[in-house]
Amino acid sequence: MSSIESVMNETRVFEPAESFKAQANVKGMDGYRALCEQAEKDYEGFWAGLARELLVWKKPFTKVLDESNAPFYKWFDDGEMNVSYNCLDKHLATQPNKIAIIFEADDGKVTKITYKDLYHRVCTFANGLKALGAKKGDRVIIYLPMSIEAVVAMQACARIGAIHSVVFGGFSAKSLHERITDASASLIITADGQFRGGKAMQLKPAVDDALAMGGCECVKKVVVYQRTAGETAWDAQRDVWWHDAVQGQADTCEPEWVNAEHPLFVLYTSGSTGKPKGVQHSSAGFLLHAINTMRWTFDYKDSDIFWCTADVGWITGHTYVTYGPLGIGATQLMFEGVPTYPDAGRFWKMIQDHKITTFYTAPTAIRSLIKLGADLPKQYDLSSLRLLGTVGEPINPEAWMWYYNTVGQTRCPVVDTWWQTETGGHMITPLPGVHGLKPGSCTMALPGIMAAIVDEAGHDVEKGKGGFLVIKRPWPSMIRTIYGDPERYKKNYFPEDLGGKYYLAGDGANCDLDGYFWIMGRIDDVLNVSGHRLGTMEIESALVANPLVAEAAVVGKPHDIKGEAVVAYVVLKGARPEGEDAKKIVADLRNWVAKEIGPIAKPDEIRFGDNLPKTRSGKIMRRLLRALAKGEEITQDVSTLENPAILEQLKEVVK
Ligand code: ATP
Ligand code: MG
Repeated sequence: MSSIESVMNETRVFEPAESFKAQANVKGMDGYRALCEQAEKDYEGFWAGLARELLVWKKPFTKVLDESNAPFYKWFDDGEMNVSYNCLDKHLATQPNKIAIIFEADDGKVTKITYKDLYHRVCTFANGLKALGAKKGDRVIIYLPMSIEAVVAMQACARIGAIHSVVFGGFSAKSLHERITDASASLIITADGQFRGGKAMQLKPAVDDALAMGGCECVKKVVVYQRTAGETAWDAQRDVWWHDAVQGQADTCEPEWVNAEHPLFVLYTSGSTGKPKGVQHSSAGFLLHAINTMRWTFDYKDSDIFWCTADVGWITGHTYVTYGPLGIGATQLMFEGVPTYPDAGRFWKMIQDHKITTFYTAPTAIRSLIKLGADLPKQYDLSSLRLLGTVGEPINPEAWMWYYNTVGQTRCPVVDTWWQTETGGHMITPLPGVHGLKPGSCTMALPGIMAAIVDEAGHDVEKGKGGFLVIKRPWPSMIRTIYGDPERYKKNYFPEDLGGKYYLAGDGANCDLDGYFWIMGRIDDVLNVSGHRLGTMEIESALVANPLVAEAAVVGKPHDIKGEAVVAYVVLKGARPEGEDAKKIVADLRNWVAKEIGPIAKPDEIRFGDNLPKTRSGKIMRRLLRALAKGEEITQDVSTLENPAILEQLKEVVK
């Protein structure tokens, strides 16, 4: 691929208000540029300075970056610290009684826990884990609903140096089994069940089933947090109630001082593009970036009440629920339930009730909330909000505009944060007191993050031309390896074609003449229409800009003359159309795209669904749509697919 063409023509820019800029942690373009220059002049010195400022070290590091075994990079390698100490103990002297977590349950019940109480809870549970035989380096699977306990479990693992691997509570026994065996876990922490949308659902049976599938001899104990108190099958040899595990345990626990590079966790990617990969992260480098991006991207202030809606089963929940907010000492909200229960105003009501200042969610949630009630936010008092963020997929400019106007009331900057499980934290994102915002652009790389766009030989492409998004230098919070598969790590992220030195993100992107990055979709998803290479994102955004359309996904299918034909899967705001209605809307949408971006992007085929196939983290799975477009049976990995039934519906072509 020499380049990907951009057909997007987004010209709106929203500058930060002077009042926001004046109070921002990074002030204006000058402040931003000064940090970038510092990083360019003395890369190691820049990161070392941040690591000394933001982390507490048991044993200070003297080496910064070790590149001797590239691409297996090491940071701060002779230093010793503990992540849980840095998230809890560190705050005991200054703010023991500050609320760390406000937890709102599915039924609306609110529980608050202070830093001091959280510290004791973590210590007690850490002692409980040790008593069950868990120790430094062991892998622990955490399969819990959103709860204070989920954070306690993760922090307790960090405290004793055990490596956690959180599996999202919506995953099946089979997915769980794959992860248990891949990580050869010795312990599982789960719950009897969870509440979602007013219903109690069992969780532990999935663990029982996974363990019955065989090959799980590694698992010695299963700790079960009692949440729903329904009937629970029990293996007296293996299973232990959480409340029994902590019974009689001391409420302080000396942290296990680990090397900076000691693995903090392994987390499997969403599986949007293939089989999930076990991404392994370090302790110090990861936490450093988590804390620093709270400060820079989210412009963290002591008075903030932060809410990241991601489940702790995703990287976003790791970095911006369990580690970043606690590392910086914030008060944050955690939510057990779903945005549609008891009604589609739940998020807005929670922002109002808890006076949320900083709200971070995913484009998929934004699009579905628009579909369910674009005017609903107006019924709530959202005046506490001062900053909005998104993550997970490119945000279509029209969804961005709604978020900015209706939720943020044009007062709140929107930080569109591009990053990945592998990057550990934000990489390319606006800083709210710095960048003029262009809807749909993640703007510029953070200081110290050397993002660039290159062609297939690894050469920089001109501004305005699309290509592969790469990071040219290692950074502290980067993936260290794929668990158990270092070769795959090397091949996947540091391909020889690019010289073996650049981190290849796997996304296609374009950098405009102002130096703003635009993510155009996955490299795997790029279309080749009559010799033009087009990103999926732009055609999708054009469709979403049509007033009838709630969501769209675009893929290619082989075409004799054009090379590839454009196939669009569309979800309307109203009901799924049929017959003549459907035909008319297809014609209208084809013309609409032709008008919005040009005839080249006009879909050859449009199919309607009530929804799109998504990962359980809410991302569109275009690889499945590609198979459907070609009329193939689905033989790929669908372990992370949320709604398999939707595939049947999307086989139907409007003729
Ligand atoms: P897999 O690697 O298994 O296919 P995945 O890539 O979906 O799964 P994640 O690490 O959760 O797993 O997602 C990272 C990807 O999400 C990025 O590579 C990018 O494609 C997309 N993404 C995340 N944030 C943004 C954003 N702000 N703008 C555009 N794309 C984004
Ligand atoms: Mg990925």
